[in-house]
Amino acid sequence: MSATSLSLPPPPRRAPEFGRDALIVCESLVRIYQSGSVEVQALQGLDLTVNTGEMIAVVGASGSGKSTLLSILAGIDAPTAGRARVDRWDLLAMSRSERVEFRRRTVGFVRQQTASNLVPYLTARQMIDLPMTATRTPVRQRRERTAELLDALGIERLADRRPGQLSGGQQMRVAIAVALANRPRVLLADEPTGELDTDTSAEVFGVLRDVNRRYGVTVLVVTHDPTVSGRVERTVAIRDGRTSSEVLRRTATGADGDTHVIAEEYAVMDRAGRVQIPRDFREALALTRRVRLALEPDHVTIRPDTERDG
Ligand code: ADP
Ligand code: MG
Repeated sequence: MSATSLSLPPPPRRAPEFGRDALIVCESLVRIYQSGSVEVQALQGLDLTVNTGEMIAVVGASGSGKSTLLSILAGIDAPTAGRARVDRWDLLAMSRSERVEFRRRTVGFVRQQTASNLVPYLTARQMIDLPMTATRTPVRQRRERTAELLDALGIERLADRRPGQLSGGQQMRVAIAVALANRPRVLLADEPTGELDTDTSAEVFGVLRDVNRRYGVTVLVVTHDPTVSGRVERTVAIRDGRTSSEVLRRTATGADGDTHVIAEEYAVMDRAGRVQIPRDFREALALTRRVRLALEPDHVTIRPDTERDG
C-alpha cells in the first residue's frame, strides 16, 4: 500500500498577511517606556507599510514617537507589542546575534545629531571602511566600495579629512556614505537636516533622493522641514504614537500642457477599521463621543449625533 491513500486535512485557510509584499511592515506597533513608576506610551498601535524603493518622509510634533519608530526599525530598540518586519526579519523575534547581523547588513542609520554619526579621530575614508571590517569584507572590495561612495556622495576631495574639518552638510554626506557601506536595503535618517540651514538642508535631501534612485535603497526620513516633505511621493504623519494621515503626491499634466504636483491627504484606517477624524473637522461639526455613520453607494457619511439625551 502506498502513502497516497492517506487523506490529508485541507490546508488551513488564512487571510492574506497584512503588507505581505512590503519591505517594511508595522502593525499595531506598541512601545512603552518605563521610567520609574511612570509609563510613557511612545507608540500606541502604529500601522505602516513601505514598499521596496520608496522614499517617504515621516513628520509629526516633537514627542510623537518618530525617533522611537526609527530606533525600532533600525534594530536598536525592541517593540513592546505588535508586529514589525523589515525585509525577512521579524523585529520582535530576533535573537541577539540576528539583531547584530540585521544592524550590520539590512539597515543603515543616520542619527539625529550630526556629530554622533562620526568618529572624531577618523578620516571620512576610514569611517566608510569601518562598517565593512565588521562584516569581514575583503580589503579589495572595501577599497572599491569606499571609492564608489566617496564619488557618489561628492566627497572624494574630503576623503582624508576628519569630522572637525568638515562642514555640517559635508559631515552629513559622510554619515550617509557610512550608513550605505554594507549595501543596506533600508536607509533610515532621523532629522538629518535638523541642524542645517535651508540651502544645506535642501542639498542633503537631494543626496538622499539621489542614493534612493542610484542604489534602489528604500529611504525613511524623519523631518520637520515642510519643504523637504513636499519633495517626496508620500508623507506619513504620526500623532500620539499612531499614523494619523498620509499625503500622496503625483504629477499631472493639465489641459494647458503644464505639469504640476497634486497633493492629496488621506486618513489612515487601521485593520480594525478605525479612522481618526482631524480635530478641525470634529470642531467644525461639533462631533463628539457619538456620531451617525451611513453607508452610501460610493462613500460613507459621518454626521453629528443630533438626538443627544440631556
Ligand atoms: P519624537 O522623535 O517624535 O520627538 P520620541 O520617539 O523621541 O519622539 O519620543 C516619544 C515619547 O517617548 C516622548 O514622550 C518621549 O519623552 C518618550 N521617550 C522616548 N525615549 C524614551 C526613553 N528612553 N525613556 C522614557 N521615555 C522615552
Ligand atoms: Mg526625535
